[in-house]
Amino acid sequence: MKRDYYEVLGVSRTGGDGEIKKAFRKLAREIHPDVNKNDPEAETKFKEAAEAYECLSNPETRAAYDRFGFEGVQRGGFQDFSQFSFEEIFRSFFGEDIFGGGRTSAARGTDVAVAVEISLTEAASGVKREVEYQAVSGCEPCGGSGAAPGTSRETCEVCKGSGQVRTVSRTAFGQFMRTGICRRCKGEGSVVETPCKECGGRGAVMAGRKMEVDIPAGIDDGQSIRLSGLGGRGERGGPAGDLYIQVTVAGDEKLIRDGDDLIYHQRLTIVEAAIGTTVAVPTLEGEQEVDIKPGTQFGEVVRLKGKGMPQLRGRGRGDLRIIVDIVVPRHLNSGQKDLLREFARTTSEKNYSSDEGIFDKIRTALS
Ligand SMILES: [Zn+2]
Ligand SMILES: [Zn+2]
Repeated sequence: MKRDYYEVLGVSRTGGDGEIKKAFRKLAREIHPDVNKNDPEAETKFKEAAEAYECLSNPETRAAYDRFGFEGVQRGGFQDFSQFSFEEIFRSFFGEDIFGGGRTSAARGTDVAVAVEISLTEAASGVKREVEYQAVSGCEPCGGSGAAPGTSRETCEVCKGSGQVRTVSRTAFGQFMRTGICRRCKGEGSVVETPCKECGGRGAVMAGRKMEVDIPAGIDDGQSIRLSGLGGRGERGGPAGDLYIQVTVAGDEKLIRDGDDLIYHQRLTIVEAAIGTTVAVPTLEGEQEVDIKPGTQFGEVVRLKGKGMPQLRGRGRGDLRIIVDIVVPRHLNSGQKDLLREFARTTSEKNYSSDEGIFDKIRTALS
């Protein structure tokens, strides 16, 4: 069931042209395709509003609608919006300028990504890296104009330099004015008569660029740095794209990163863990001696405060966590076994194998 055109636009039947236009613009902003990308109903709503506006904004079709209703306007081959895309209809009503001008003709340049691999130490200190990449750039010989050196761009005679053309479509109910991009100059307002040989008249070429990039301290594996405006050049005055530096932080042989913390696995023999010792632990600043207290257990963590990674764009640093792994001897000769049995016999600590204890059992068996 079609809704009444006045109801669609929310204006009274006696509303003037200005009122109808204002109501439609307000409605159009609300259901603009860019704002409602995920709303499947937005397109239908907009088409409904566009149809209502097209009818009511023209005195003849409006009069026909007022007298005969939908019958009055449908008879004469009124625009069937269902065959047009949402964008097309939108542009046909508003041309380029509805939301602040130059929307369609100016195009943003492309984004470019460059991969960079750095070491963990470089990630900790921050590092400068020279990167090379290809991006659409202004053509040098013609200064980006596209016109051969010594010549210049000429004003487009089709659109007289505006980059836009108005087309008038006639229907049984009158004329409808539409604004579109000039095809001759593609909206630029000027054309190249003698194209530059270097760029073929496009004013832009793919060119290699080199630059030094500051990779900040604390950057993590997989993070990107965005350098605004360093990507491909924009078209028709549009802004340049961005350059993304995609950083990979290579794994370190000894230190494992865990956010801002670093982890180091320190292996200890049962004797070292039991009696205590001093070990040399790798840190970002070189080796550091660390005391291991007697009776250290498997999995215990010794924390070196502030010896981890710096926080990205922050002031603090994480910790270095030393996790203790205890290595149990695999190959013992009989003398060593005897020593351990002797130790087991004299220790006040409980054996876990049974209430009697494995060494007690062995001893019983041997005696
Ligand atoms: Zn033109
Ligand atoms: Zn050129």
